[in-house]
Order: sequence, then structure tokens, then C-alpha cells
Amino acid sequence: MARQPTKAQPPKLLSRDEFREGVFARDSHQCVNCGAPAADAHHIIERRLFREPHEIGGYFLENGASVCEPCHILAEQTTLGADTLREMCSIARIVLPAHLYEGQRYDKWGNPIQPNGTRLKGELFHDESVQKILSAGGVLGQFTHLIRSPRTYHLPWSAGMHDDDRMMPTSTFLEGRRIIATEKMDGENTSIYTRDLHARSPDGRGHPSRDRVKAWASTFQHEIPEGWRIVGENVTAVHSIAYDDLPHIFLGFQVWNERNICLPWDETLEWFELLGITPVRVLYDGIYDEPALRALYDERRDWESREGYVVRLAGSFAMSEYPQAVGKFVRCDHVQTAKHNWASQPFVPNGLAADATI
Ligand SMILES: [Zn+2]
Repeated sequence: MARQPTKAQPPKLLSRDEFREGVFARDSHQCVNCGAPAADAHHIIERRLFREPHEIGGYFLENGASVCEPCHILAEQTTLGADTLREMCSIARIVLPAHLYEGQRYDKWGNPIQPNGTRLKGELFHDESVQKILSAGGVLGQFTHLIRSPRTYHLPWSAGMHDDDRMMPTSTFLEGRRIIATEKMDGENTSIYTRDLHARSPDGRGHPSRDRVKAWASTFQHEIPEGWRIVGENVTAVHSIAYDDLPHIFLGFQVWNERNICLPWDETLEWFELLGITPVRVLYDGIYDEPALRALYDERRDWESREGYVVRLAGSFAMSEYPQAVGKFVRCDHVQTAKHNWASQPFVPNGLAADATI
């Protein structure tokens, strides 16, 4: 008999004491790696990565493993990996912080692990204590310099929320501060480095639209400082919205430095000017003002031609602050399926404006 799919219950957040006791009891008070008496209830995924009110501290039974002191060090250094620990504890369900991607493998510190075993630098990678631990574990050589773009949360009034989307729990981080709202382009998130270029996920497959942006980027990439990256939207191909007057096939919106800090907007524009990159269109520049932001999009007027807008803090922010510093309004979207399948459709280029610079 076919089983009906059931929606999984969210895991239960425990107190610190309940977590320790629950994890020890499940593992019979023994280190799951070597069988010695358990000394610590180890967080399989770092507690600091759990930031939303319903997950603070990451005290979930499925996020704990009983370890002795020596094995605890191995787990912190990630030579005893998160997947291995879950297996040893017979944990079937992977609990991740809300802002990370389901289906993506991560090490303890939230660094994404690629199918070939190399790791991408996550939001805590540059943290001093994490650097020390990873260095002591001798695993820094497993990291590539590529960085996966973080998930952008929806603004609380965004129309196009889907089940797997996340909403900003609060806008207090932006209130009273200068913010920039820019046009949200319906293309493909793309990161450009001194020598590399990749779509949102660095292991993406090839597509003719990527080849065009690659060829263009190769003319200035060597001028991008080592370890920095330019992030923007590749709008070469039609996804859900067909544009007919784009100023360029790539529209930039962020510059990140070697410490994984997103540069302030004004500095971003200076770099774009220097490198010959066209920025996304600015719709609002001023102190955070919810009514003014809401007025930027009218479903009746804009639905056909625009996807929505993105709000960011005008100042600089770290990657770990991304969920609070960047938010999006997305139109009520009835054609999400088409959007997800664009790469398997025939390549249809968007139209460029007569005075486009490419
Ligand atoms: Zn042990």
C-alpha cells in the first residue's frame, strides 16, 4: 500500500539541561565515537547558527551527540564529521538552522560540503575561534575560495512566499538606518571572482547564458582583488519575465571582500564604475520606511514586467548578518514551475536596450 506523504513535525526546542540529559540518555551516557563515558553533549551544528526565535541555541535532540573530551575536540575540528556523528547516534533527521539550505551538506560550522568533498566558506569561517579550530584540525586545505550566495529572506509583506521560503522575523535591523531598494531581476544569481564564475550553487551545470556572461567577465576579472567577489544577476536568458530593454546582460548588486564582508552600497558603485559593471536599478535610497517601500510595487501595474524589489542595508554587513540585512519583495508568482525549469528550456535571450553597453 502506498504511504501517504505526511508533513514532518518541526523538531522540539529543548532547554540546555533537557538537551544534555536527553542526548546522554539516548546515547546511554557513552561517547558515540569510542564508548568512553560521555563528557559533553556536542552540538552537531553550531549553536550560534540557530538564530530565529524558534531555534535559538540549537538545542534539539537531533542536533546533539554524546562525546568524551578527546572525541569532542575531533568533532569541533570537524575531522569527526557531522554526518558520521548523526549516523553513530542513529539520527535519521537532519536539523539545520532555518536560513541554511535543506538538502545541502554542512560541517559543524555551517560550511557547505560539496559532493567532491571540498568545502565552501560559510558565514562563520572567518570567525577567529573557528579559524583556530579548523586550523588545529588540519582541514583548511579542504576549502575552496568559492562562496555560495546566502538565501534572501522575504520582507514581511512579500506576496510571493512559498513553503520552502523564509520570512524575515523582524525588520528591526533595518529600522532607522539608510537602506537601498533595487529592482529584483528575474535572472540567475551569479558570483564573479578573479579567476572563477559560478551560479548560486558553485556546482551548477552549463548553460549558453552562462557562457555569454563568462566571456564578458573575462575582460575585467583580473582587476577584481584576490579573494573578492562581485555578485549580480545574469539576465541573459528569459526566465519567467521577458525583458526587452535591459542595459546589460549582467546587473551587479553586491561586492564582497576577502573577509566575506559586503561592502557599503556607495563603495559598491565605485567598484562597479571602475570595473565597467552596470548596477541594478535603484528604486529607493533613504531611511527605512515601510509605507514607502510597500508603494514600490503595485501588482496591477507591475505584475507583467517586474518581479519585485530587494532591500539592503546601505552600510556594510557580514555574511552572518545577511538574513536581517537583505530582504526581498516578490510578486505573487503563479508560474514558479516554469521558473525552476528555465535551464532545461530552449535558450531565449532577453532584449537589450538600444544604448546597452554590451
Ligand atoms: Zn570518545
